[in-house]
Amino acid sequence: MQNRLIIDGAAVPAASGQTFPTLNPATGETLTEVARAGAEDVERAVAAARAAMDKGPWASMDGAARGQLLWKLGERMLAETQALAELETRDSGKTIRDTSGGDVPGAARCFQYFAGWADKIQGDVNPVSGPFLNYTRREPVGVVGAVIPWNFPILMAAWKLGPALAAGNTVVLKPAEQTPLTAIRLGELALEVGFPPGVVNVLPGFGEEAGAALVRHPGVNKIAFTGSTEVGKLIQREAAATLKRVTLELGGKSPNIVFADADLEQAVRGALTGIFYNQGQVCTAGSRLLLERSVHDAFLAKLLDGASKMQPGDPLSPKSRMGPLVSQQQLERVLGYVAKGKAEGARLEVGGERVGDKGYFVPPTVFTGVRNDMTIAREEIFGPVLSVIPFDDVAEATRIANDTIYGLAAAVWTRDIGKAHAVAHAIQAGTVWVNTYMNSQNASPFGGYKQSGVGRELGSSFIEHYTELKSVWVRMG
Ligand code: NAP
Ligand code: MG
Repeated sequence: MQNRLIIDGAAVPAASGQTFPTLNPATGETLTEVARAGAEDVERAVAAARAAMDKGPWASMDGAARGQLLWKLGERMLAETQALAELETRDSGKTIRDTSGGDVPGAARCFQYFAGWADKIQGDVNPVSGPFLNYTRREPVGVVGAVIPWNFPILMAAWKLGPALAAGNTVVLKPAEQTPLTAIRLGELALEVGFPPGVVNVLPGFGEEAGAALVRHPGVNKIAFTGSTEVGKLIQREAAATLKRVTLELGGKSPNIVFADADLEQAVRGALTGIFYNQGQVCTAGSRLLLERSVHDAFLAKLLDGASKMQPGDPLSPKSRMGPLVSQQQLERVLGYVAKGKAEGARLEVGGERVGDKGYFVPPTVFTGVRNDMTIAREEIFGPVLSVIPFDDVAEATRIANDTIYGLAAAVWTRDIGKAHAVAHAIQAGTVWVNTYMNSQNASPFGGYKQSGVGRELGSSFIEHYTELKSVWVRMG
C-alpha cells in the first residue's frame, strides 16, 4: 500500500492497520486511502525522533552537513515540481498555477533558505564580572511536533521542517486530514536525500487522534502549529501539562484599508488578490475591505467587475485562477456565513452560491454595507467572501482595523508616505503591507498579534523558537 506513515526511516502501515480516504475537492471523489496514525504510532514516531536526537548520525552531524541535506531536499523538490504540484492540486483543490508556480517552489526555497542558516546559529560571550568566562550556546529544543493545516500543505510542512531541522531538532509532522499526500511524499524525499532515520517522521491522521496524542506526549519538547484559533487555544492548554514550547500561527480577519489618495487600480488588484487568492483560504486574507467613503462607489464598481472575471474552474487547468474549497465542510461553513451576512442586513453584491453540484466551488462573493460588528466582519470565514466597510478618516479606519480579536496582517493603500507609516505603526498586526498585499518571503518574520498567534516563523526569529539557550560558566582563576 502507498501513502503510509513515515516512522524511523521507513514507510509503514498504521499499528491499527486502519486507513482513511482523502478526496479530490474538485470532484468530491476519493483519491486514495491513507494510513491513519493513532496513539501507538505517535509513540513509535516520538521514540524514533528521540533516538535520532540523542544518538546516531543526526546527533553528531554539524550544521554544515545539516545544511547540505536541507539544500538537497530543496533541489529534489524543484526537480519534482510538476509531480508534487499535481499531487497537491488533486488533494487540496489549489490551482495548478499556484501549486506549480507558488507552493512547491516556495517550499523548496524555504528549505534552501534554512539550509543557509544551519551553520550560522551561534551563541555569545557575555561581559560578566569576576574571573569567569560566560558564554551561551544555542542547542536544539529536541523533538518537535508539527501540526499543519490544509490551505498550504507542502508550504506549511516546509515552514515547520526547515527551521526545526536547521537548528538540529527532529520532527514528527502531522498533516491535515484533508491534504496528507504531499507531506508523505516530502517524508519519502527526505529519506531519499539522506536524512537519517527518525529525523523526519510523518503521521497522516486526525487531529483528535494523532494530533492530540502528539500534543500530550511528554517526549515532545515543542509543538509548532498552524491552523484555527480554536484548536490553537486547545493546544496551548494541553501543552501546559508538560510545559512544551509552543508556537502558534492562527486565524485572522485582516483589514485592507484603501484611502482616497491611493493608486486605485493597484488597490483594486490588491483587494482582489487579498481575498480571492486560494479561494480566500488564507490566514492573511484581506477579508475586511475598508474604503474611504469618497471613493467607495467608484472603487466598488471596479472591484465587482474584477470579481466577476474570476470564476472558479478545474484546478488542474493552467487557466484557472480559482479552484474549489477544500471540503464539503468548508463549503457549508462558507455558505453558512453568506446566509448570516444576509440575515444581519449586509448587501450581497455578487456571488454567494455554490457553482455546479460536483466539487466545492464558490465564486467571488462581496458584501457591502457591512458594519464591523456583524458576524461576517468578526469571524474568520476562510472562503472567498469579502466584507466592504466604509470609513471617513484615518482615526476611524484605524479604530475599525484594530477592532478585532485578531492581529495577523493588514494593508494600507495611500500615496501619502506619512499617512502610510503612521497607519502601519498604529495597526496591531504582525504584518502590515503598504501599497501591496500578501507578500511573504523567507527572510521576513511572520506571525500574529493578539489571538492570531504566539511567536514568529521565518527570518532569523526561528532561532528563538527552535533552540534552547544555555549559559555556560567557566572559572578562570
Ligand atoms: P484545524 O482544526 O485548526 O486544523 C489544523 C490542524 O490541527 C490539522 O492538522 C488538524 O487535524 C489539527 N488538529 C485538529 N484538532 C486537533 C487537536 N485537538 N489536537 C491536535 N491537533 C488538532 O482547522 P480546520 O478544522 O481544518 O479548519 C477550520 C477553520 O480553521 C477554517 O475554516 C479556518 O477558519 C481556520 N483555519 C486557519 C488556518 C490558518 O492558516 N490560520 C488554516 C486552516 C484552517 P485534522 O486535519 O484532522 O482536523
Ligand atoms: Mg484531499
